[in-house]
Amino acid sequence: MEEFRAIVLEGRQAIRALGSDGAVLFEKADNGMGGRPEAQRADLRRMLLDALPEGTVRWGRKVTGARSLGSGRHEVIFADGGSVTTSLLVGADGAWSRVRPLLSEAVPEYVGTSFVETYLFDADTRHPAVAKAVGGGSMFAHASGKAITAHREHGDTLHAYVELTRPLEWFDGIDFSDPPAAATRVAAEFDGWAPELTALISDTDTPPVLRPHYALPDGHRWDRTPGMTLVGDAAHLLAPNGEGASLAMYDGAELGKALAAHLDEYEQAMFTRMSQADDETAMHLKEMFGDTAYESLLTLIPEHQQDH
Ligand SMILES: Cc1cc2nc3c(=O)[nH]c(=O)nc-3n(C[C@H](O)[C@H](O)[C@H](O)COP(=O)(O)OP(=O)(O)OC[C@H]3O[C@@H](n4cnc5c(N)ncnc54)[C@H](O)[C@@H]3O)c2cc1C
Repeated sequence: MEEFRAIVLEGRQAIRALGSDGAVLFEKADNGMGGRPEAQRADLRRMLLDALPEGTVRWGRKVTGARSLGSGRHEVIFADGGSVTTSLLVGADGAWSRVRPLLSEAVPEYVGTSFVETYLFDADTRHPAVAKAVGGGSMFAHASGKAITAHREHGDTLHAYVELTRPLEWFDGIDFSDPPAAATRVAAEFDGWAPELTALISDTDTPPVLRPHYALPDGHRWDRTPGMTLVGDAAHLLAPNGEGASLAMYDGAELGKALAAHLDEYEQAMFTRMSQADDETAMHLKEMFGDTAYESLLTLIPEHQQDH
């Protein structure tokens, strides 16, 4: 928790909603009491990876598929031609999981909305009007079928998602390999909006990136299959709702606890078994080396038991 607290961005739980004209419709300051601390994904990822023993994560090993070997065992096949077999396969490989098909036929479908992602760096000095409009945390400006949302990240970096409810074919008509043209085309959808909002698109410091949203069917389930399970987006991909990363980490933590609890269950049962065996062994030792050793030995021999 101490390490986590160190990466939490102070003040970023502030929220404001603006109208398309830039007027503040709602505002809530970050009073430090909110229950949704914000951390940058890269910081969180580094913190979690640093907690693992060296070599736990094998980088650069793309999974091309997995198959059941029966009896709860699975083989995972890598693009480099290698493979591993495992008695516990956890598909934590996101939206387009290569593991999920072993459990479910469900395929993510486009939900009808996409983000276009942009960044403005050094906003307090280079884009002061935009920085002011976004404020200290999250900013939302919504209209029918479209929105501009932004979030203040480390320092005065502004990270924006421009949301558009459009079919995928509509986005096919935008050439994202030509960043200025793509930004102009997307900004045109917000014609008449306040310039401090549209600048989040037109003044982007990074090429606009299209992020179409896919989801698995509601209530996605699968039959219990020995030796494998799924966590995170592989199990329950949803359109972004601000919870996906938290849910994925929660799944991982809960799965870890379940495995640990079963180990505990196994160990406790084994300890009980072994303590009975210990008592029996002590009794046998006493009998075998006591005055009636020969008779005691005979009681242990099945043939002898049958004869009598
Ligand atoms: C535009 C956008 C914005 C979002 N914003 C937020 C937000 O603000 N807050 C939030 O909580 N959630 C957000 N989400 C959702 C969040 O990103 C996901 O729910 C979360 O990342 C799921 O975690 P995961 O570990 O299950 O999958 P992922 O984060 O997708 O991780 C899967 C991992 O598996 C690896 N992998 C995939 N395929 C293979 C393969 N074949 N071989 C080897 N490795 C493979 C990938 O490289 C990746 O490292 C957002 C999603 C999108 C698309």
